[in-house]
Amino acid sequence: MPSLTDARSAQLYARAVTLLPGGVNSPVRAMRAIGRDPIFVDHGAGAELVDVDGNRYVDWVCSWGPLIHGHAHPEIVAAVQQAAARGTSFGAPTAGEIELAAEIADRLPSVEMSRMTSSGTEASMSALRLARAVTGRDMILKFSGAYHGHVDGLLAEAGSGLATQGIPASPGVPAAATAATVIVPWNDPDALRAATARHELAAIVAEPYPANMGLVPPDAGFLGLLREQADANGALLVFDEVISGFRVARGGAQERSGVTPDLTIMGKVVGGGVPAAAYGGPKALMERIAPAGDVYQAGTLSGNPLAVAAGLATLRLLDAGAYERLAATTTRLAEGLRAAAGDLPVQVATVPGLLTVFFRAEPVHDYADAAAADRDAYAAWCRALLAHGVYAPPSQFEAWFPSLAHDDAAIERTLAAASAAFASLS
Ligand SMILES: *Cc1c(COP(=O)(O)O)cnc(C)c1O
Repeated sequence: MPSLTDARSAQLYARAVTLLPGGVNSPVRAMRAIGRDPIFVDHGAGAELVDVDGNRYVDWVCSWGPLIHGHAHPEIVAAVQQAAARGTSFGAPTAGEIELAAEIADRLPSVEMSRMTSSGTEASMSALRLARAVTGRDMILKFSGAYHGHVDGLLAEAGSGLATQGIPASPGVPAAATAATVIVPWNDPDALRAATARHELAAIVAEPYPANMGLVPPDAGFLGLLREQADANGALLVFDEVISGFRVARGGAQERSGVTPDLTIMGKVVGGGVPAAAYGGPKALMERIAPAGDVYQAGTLSGNPLAVAAGLATLRLLDAGAYERLAATTTRLAEGLRAAAGDLPVQVATVPGLLTVFFRAEPVHDYADAAAADRDAYAAWCRALLAHGVYAPPSQFEAWFPSLAHDDAAIERTLAAASAAFASLS
């Protein structure tokens, strides 16, 4: 098997661990889930990532979603450069923010108005504050295995049994913060109905195409049931489209499924690789946000001109043809990976623009199924992919992010590496 040279990465990591907790600024980058040390990046170009040791990889992580056009797309780079030359931040409104909000509203009819933040975590936190203000209720229902950023109240795990109250998933999260969170297994209509019967909810919050336990698409009718149960309960339906937005379709999961949420959380693609996120909904709800209304929420760098320029350039390149190409790339990759896996107990879950290779014989339907996957096999396969020049998500519980920069050559390189990596397992 070809092996990675990683002397420079190893040197940087040795220094990084003395200055950054675990050597990184976000945990998954440390690659602990696949049992190796992190790879330090030098640069990216298109579908390719080049590390500090000069190893070249086909990159299927693409910064975990924002880079739907691949690395350093010339038009996006030019937009950011032009914006930076005019000043990096003003703390005062700029015309680009209006254009970005209009672009979002054009794609998502449910989002008449939006408010920008600097991260998806902030956008989730703020959307839930608004839902609580609008309904005058505290309880939030979320799904097991869904991730909505590291907001205290949403960093909760389910206890045992159906429709349980959340327990903190991390030290430092107060029990009081998760006491108002109800957790239900994904794709479980009975558990959902039991929870809505028992609690007066401010919101049902869901990733409509959950991709943070690996990709686990909704069963037919499940998103419609969320809408129906939210209405019957008097709760708002909040779609966290930080991953699915502007990716699974031009108008995200809400367009693809035909189910319309009350509030939408956006991030990743909307910032084009620069820190930005947003939340939005109908004017009547959004005008509760300060200074139009009484619900406080603010941000020094919110609507930052670099992020707005990157986001606008990214969205404007996403025409109908782009979504057809992205879907075709995803299908070719998924079919190729299934063929490469042969008789191995592997499931490839996919929707346009997203994919997960689960090391499990049965289809994955909820978080319990995902958690039952063979993580050691995934780790070994992923390490072998790296050694063959393919950078796949270094965790069983993450999605692959196909981009418009992944051409036939990138897919072929990936499938050859995948076959070799599968072969190395047996
Ligand atoms: C990434 C992500 C978030 C958090 O966004 P950050 O910008 O990392 O804070 C929230 N929800 C979903 C579905 C995500 O994938």
